[in-house]
Amino acid sequence: MPQRLAVYFSPLVLHHPTGAGVFEAPASSLLELAEAHPENAERISNMRSVLLKGPIADQLDWAEAPVASAEQMLRFHDAAYLDSLRAIPDGESVRLTETTVLGPGSWQAMTAAAGQAIAAVRHAWQPDGKLAYALVRPPGHHAQPAMADGYCFLNNIGIALEDARARGLRRAAVIDWDVHHGNGTQEGYYRDPDVLTISLHMDHGSWGANHPQSGAPEEAGEADGLGHNLNIALACGSGDASYRAAFDRLVAPVVEEFAPELIIVACGQDANQFDPNGRNCVTMAGFHELGDRARQLATRCCRGRLALIQEGGYALSYAALCLHATLAGVLGEELGISDPLAFLPDPTDGIDARIDDLARRWRLAASR
Ligand SMILES: [Zn+2]
Repeated sequence: MPQRLAVYFSPLVLHHPTGAGVFEAPASSLLELAEAHPENAERISNMRSVLLKGPIADQLDWAEAPVASAEQMLRFHDAAYLDSLRAIPDGESVRLTETTVLGPGSWQAMTAAAGQAIAAVRHAWQPDGKLAYALVRPPGHHAQPAMADGYCFLNNIGIALEDARARGLRRAAVIDWDVHHGNGTQEGYYRDPDVLTISLHMDHGSWGANHPQSGAPEEAGEADGLGHNLNIALACGSGDASYRAAFDRLVAPVVEEFAPELIIVACGQDANQFDPNGRNCVTMAGFHELGDRARQLATRCCRGRLALIQEGGYALSYAALCLHATLAGVLGEELGISDPLAFLPDPTDGIDARIDDLARRWRLAASR
């Protein structure tokens, strides 16, 4: 019997206008044309299209979940922060950071995104283990309990995870392979011994007042959470071979040792080789391997309970194809679509030495 994957999607997530400018920054009078903000509805429409029309379409069960409730959001976020978001008049376009924009409809879109994530985690977290994915925007992994950052307002994974914990989940692992550091999720669980947070990202460091975390392996958690945050800061240019090595040599053994009851993947595709917002070089084949490895890991350590929540991915065509590749891997199916852009070399120099160094620094920090 082919595996099935529940896909949660609400059309409300398309109504979150982020405007246009110099990429993610405000428009410049020097340039004739403003380009769409990279985090736009079109990217999600393309992803939805490839899932509806592609080779795994028959294995997907689509559903729409309700928006997240205030009670659900309050389990991860501070009340004053939620109030400040809610207080923004719905007709206004506002920049919470230089790059983090919201406008008319955005509050509904955010709460719908969190609601789809909640439903995906609830679906995955069943005794016999299910596969689920939430196709959502705005993304969530940079949103901290009391701060927006990097296109993110509500931490969809944090809200979904807290909903599951309120219903009895005790231990969970979050694997974040979006190309950027999952600083919001890290912040939410930094002192928590029951949630293992792992982020694979390009080594971009801190990027401003709303992103003070460095993403380095020395950020290993604090207090009871020490040793339960793992940052795998990959060299810029890392491709399929680097991600494979990082997953097999660090992610999988650390997750297995932690023994979670559920795995959640922060599933961004902006580590793809054509992403305008990343400097890593993962191909469709690489995402297919990541999806396959995530399912195998969930099968080994938590009865196959695996939920994937959409994060970044900004190459309008290729990110959608990489999403297909990921989910085909999750389902244990062949890639099924030939990669139209597989022509760049995969850098392989120094991978093992880098992983050895990251592991050594993390273990040192975790044993303080
Ligand atoms: Zn990202």
